Amino acid sequence: MTVLHREEIMGIPFISSSFQETLDELVREIEQGHKFRVITANPEVVMLVKKDEEFKKIIQKADYVTPDGVGILLAGKLLGKPIRERVTGYDLTISLLSIANEKRWRLYLLGAAPEVMEGVNYKIREQYPHIDLQSHHGFFNEDEETSIVEQIKSHRPHLLLVALGMPKQEKWIQKYQNQLPFNLAMGVGGTFDGISGKVKRAPLLWQRLGVEWLYRLLKEPWRWRRMLALPQFVLHVLFSRKR
Ligand code: UDP
Repeated sequence: MTVLHREEIMGIPFISSSFQETLDELVREIEQGHKFRVITANPEVVMLVKKDEEFKKIIQKADYVTPDGVGILLAGKLLGKPIRERVTGYDLTISLLSIANEKRWRLYLLGAAPEVMEGVNYKIREQYPHIDLQSHHGFFNEDEETSIVEQIKSHRPHLLLVALGMPKQEKWIQKYQNQLPFNLAMGVGGTFDGISGKVKRAPLLWQRLGVEWLYRLLKEPWRWRRMLALPQFVLHVLFSRKR
């Protein structure tokens, strides 16, 4: 039974409950042996859904869509559909790693550059030694892809976290969803880069002030074009409110 609340924003049913409530629900689902998908969606995702029919179907079929980004909270405010707080892929991943360690879950990580995945393996083995971890980096050919799928099948992970960038990671999960045994599958974007230390996350104060996006823009200025999705998204929200 789900206790989470949702608010529809631009056609997407976002979870409007707190981070902790969301996490508790996901853990409950895993413990009950359910198989489900989580998508963490920021304004860029919402804008992409408008252009990409395949991605739109995937997000509509997801079991949980969480608000990943202050832009979604702002949209909620403008539309009178309050969203409690951000539930980001990075924060969910870190919390799930702790719980996986306590519960000795099986974890499969797919994605990021080879050296990043090596760093992530090192960190997880050091900090979460009870996790049963298998992984592969995210730059593979077709043969390797077949063996990755076989590896996941035999590992039967409680958590399958995929970082191939968005929407590639969501499409990858969709492609193999039926053949792969997992409980929770989620695309996690730049999370492995963050865990390995390759990319530094914004300090807490920046996050609390709702300007993590600005920190990211300063650190990775080549992202500016992608980040135009944020003002475009706000304009769309304002326009939809007028209508
Ligand atoms: N990546 C990958 N394989 C690819 C393309 C990307 O493993 O074919 C990885 C990339 O190295 C990075 C992550 O996917 O670790 C995407 O990170 P990004 O911050 O771009 O995520 P997004 O913002 O798109 O969710």
